[in-house]
Amino acid sequence: MTSSSADDSVRGAGFGGLCTACAQVRFVHTQSGSTFLMCRLAKSDPRFAKYPPQPVRICEGYAS
Ligand code: SF4
Repeated sequence: MTSSSADDSVRGAGFGGLCTACAQVRFVHTQSGSTFLMCRLAKSDPRFAKYPPQPVRICEGYAS
């Protein structure tokens, strides 16, 4: 599994929503070809899900 903070292929893959443009997101790629969006705020704040259901439309933690 690999991850990245910015991934143009994922941004265009239909996730939409705030997470794809958020500074807190990590794109997690599995060996089977799946991609998940992981919220880094979840480590320190229980209000945020580690893998928020997509698309996220409103979020207090969003950061550009
Ligand atoms: S802070 Fe909100 S918008 Fe940003 S990655 Fe987490 S859930 Fe998505």
